[in-house]
Amino acid sequence: MADFLVETAKGYYCSYGDFYIDPLMPVDTALISHAHGDHARPGHRRILATNTTTIFMQHRFAKQDLKSYKVISYNESFFLADVKITFFPAGHILGSAQILMEYKETRYLYTGDYKLQDDATCEPLVFVKADVLITETTFANPNIVHPDQVEEISKLTATNHNMMLGCYSLGKAQRLTYLLNVYCPEKVIYVHHNIAPIHRIYDTYGFVPLKYEIYNRKVMKDGINKIYLVPPLTFNSYFRAKNVIRVFASGWKRLQHNNDLSLYISDHVDWKDLLQCIEASNPREIWTVHGDGAMLKSYFEGKIVVRNMAKITAF
Ligand SMILES: [Zn+2]
Repeated sequence: MADFLVETAKGYYCSYGDFYIDPLMPVDTALISHAHGDHARPGHRRILATNTTTIFMQHRFAKQDLKSYKVISYNESFFLADVKITFFPAGHILGSAQILMEYKETRYLYTGDYKLQDDATCEPLVFVKADVLITETTFANPNIVHPDQVEEISKLTATNHNMMLGCYSLGKAQRLTYLLNVYCPEKVIYVHHNIAPIHRIYDTYGFVPLKYEIYNRKVMKDGINKIYLVPPLTFNSYFRAKNVIRVFASGWKRLQHNNDLSLYISDHVDWKDLLQCIEASNPREIWTVHGDGAMLKSYFEGKIVVRNMAKITAF
């Protein structure tokens, strides 16, 4: 059914179950794939999400009524009207989920953001069969190949200069801390005060211990092998920082310009991993969201129908 899940001004809407997925504006019933800001917003009457997603949201949205949260376990199905819903791990950040919706013997899988690369700090992605795969296409381009993460992180051992390492606060900062702990054990990690509460949530609910200290103004003034993890805004505002090597962790080439070292570590699938997920899911149709599905469409020409998710402007 081409209108099973449609893009509206408020977000992705399923009229057959009367719910939204990752809505941008307040709605009655919201299924949240993961806690990143472009997916998880406050103000919904009911929020259905995994346990850690609700904890991240409670940290961020202090005013949201605690009674609005309903915790969903992975692999346990429930119904909204006649739509059977099941959450599966997406491998993107702690608590991230793919959302399977079954209706009239058709399986619709909304991937949310997801990745295949190893990440000890979150649940690994589970392959899910689907008739209709609704996938993000952030890096759906054959020219995008994410390099090996161990080789990337090991580049930071080439210098003992202190570093400012910019990254997203939720997910990436914790993954980097773990990778640095394991592959660059000589480095001491300091985290920005906005990142620290998220590290603490990972300490409580995550899968691996993270070794880090909270940053204070004195620590980076001298010494060697110190790495200061900061959110993007802080990173950008210190673009003239002296006596530190500036590095930003991202899959985007444009975010590597003007930095002293490049660090290609992404929490999204690259082209090859996207194809592997599609093969495992074995869909008849692919609906694309977030990004550009044009190259996917030409790659699967004559084999799988690929199109953008239908848009409805009337809502
Ligand atoms: Zn995300």
